[in-house]
Parts: sequence; structure tokens; C-alpha cells
Amino acid sequence: MIDIKFEIGGRRVDPRNMRDALEGAMLSAVQDGLRKKVGSCRCPDHGQAPKLLGKGRSLDKLNFEVTGCCEKVIEEVKRKLGSN
Ligand SMILES: [Zn+2]
Repeated sequence: MIDIKFEIGGRRVDPRNMRDALEGAMLSAVQDGLRKKVGSCRCPDHGQAPKLLGKGRSLDKLNFEVTGCCEKVIEEVKRKLGSN
């Protein structure tokens, strides 16, 4: 399973464990959408799944950082995220 984490206002948050239920639901929806889009990404060379970290000051201002075993899988994720 692809690893998708969130950091809002410098704090690590878990969609399933948020104080605000509405924000939790929004974040879950974002996470589900990303899983559908890039959940099947694997590095063709190393077979590793990439990791995503959504960072921002608030829920609607998230920037995603992609990390992985090498440039190939990162490019693959960026390509898929870019093509809506
Ligand atoms: Zn790789």
C-alpha cells in the first residue's frame, strides 16, 4: 500500500484521528483520491512503492512531496498526478 502522510501547520496529522471530524473526512477523501491515482505506482527497477507527504498551512493549501527509491518512481508519480 502506498504511504500517504499529511503535515498541516508543521504538525503530522492522521485523517482517521483528527479532532475536527469534517477535516478528517476531507483529508480521507484527498488520501483516497491519491490512492486511486498513484496507488499502483511501483518502481520498475526496484519494485518499491513511492511515498507522498502533503504539507501545508491548511487543508486546502497542501503541496505534495514525493519520495521514493529513485528518480524513476518519483517521475512516474508526478506524471500521474499532473495528468488529471
Ligand atoms: Zn527505484
